[in-house]
Amino acid sequence: DLKGKRAIVTGSNSGIGLGCAEELARAGAEVVINSFTDRDEDHALAEKIGREHGVSCRYIAADMSDGEACRALIETAGGCDILVNNAGIQHVSSIEDFPVGKWNAILAINLSSAFHTTAAALPGMRAKGWGRIVNIASAHGLTASPYKSAYVAAKHGVVGFTKVTALETAGKGITCNAICPGYVLTPLVEAQIPDQMKAHDMDRETVIREVMLDRQPSRQFATTGQIGGTVVFLCSGAADQITGTTISVDGGWTAL
Ligand code: NAD
Repeated sequence: DLKGKRAIVTGSNSGIGLGCAEELARAGAEVVINSFTDRDEDHALAEKIGREHGVSCRYIAADMSDGEACRALIETAGGCDILVNNAGIQHVSSIEDFPVGKWNAILAINLSSAFHTTAAALPGMRAKGWGRIVNIASAHGLTASPYKSAYVAAKHGVVGFTKVTALETAGKGITCNAICPGYVLTPLVEAQIPDQMKAHDMDRETVIREVMLDRQPSRQFATTGQIGGTVVFLCSGAADQITGTTISVDGGWTAL
């Protein structure tokens, strides 16, 4: 039961972040959701999560590519007991052709944002003697694929940063771990299915099994709810001594 705990999930108006926010709310936490936009629908989404789970839920806009904005998110929320660093983007290109702007943005959003939010959140966690930091890395934090240089570098960086955060907080009631999802069925991934079906002239089930989940031995997507459930587990007492490590939710990807 996470009643009385405040959770901040970065990049949480869709996909995995939204799944994490919903599961934390279901477990009774007060939740702050975030993205870089500031639309009525963002605030309405927070209101809906709060109403459905009987918790307080706010939306705070902050651009995770901007270090000062990352720190301001934590301050504006009034600190947090649970921090989920989830915001992330992808770009696919060979190293020679990789746009410098894309490289810098991926490193900023996928890696440096976690440094800034963690630095801002730790003093409050230390004062309370309790805290949970969960970084959403990736199977690409542990393995590589061609044409994803910035993403793979950033996600390996997240795994390293997770270990250092764990060492600096060990024995103080604070844990820091990384979840490494394989392929998760988010709206973004769902949207690629029709194009892949057309490109490969395959039906939905075949394109999922043979093309999209080629590297995932289960041949099944993980769900955003399963990632959220893993976050809630890491916030439980059973996970008090789990720190500085990775939990793969990847249908066997990294076992291959
Ligand atoms: P998504 O695009 O649905 O979600 C990304 C979220 O980050 C969105 O809410 C978006 O608004 C937000 N975001 C993007 N740029 C931002 C910025 N500058 N500031 C604040 N928020 C920003 O994608 P997703 O699949 O849910 O990805 C979430 C995380 O999970 C990412 O870190 C991604 O690398 C990781 N991941 C995803 C998969 C997968 O298969 N979907 C697998 C492994 C890891």
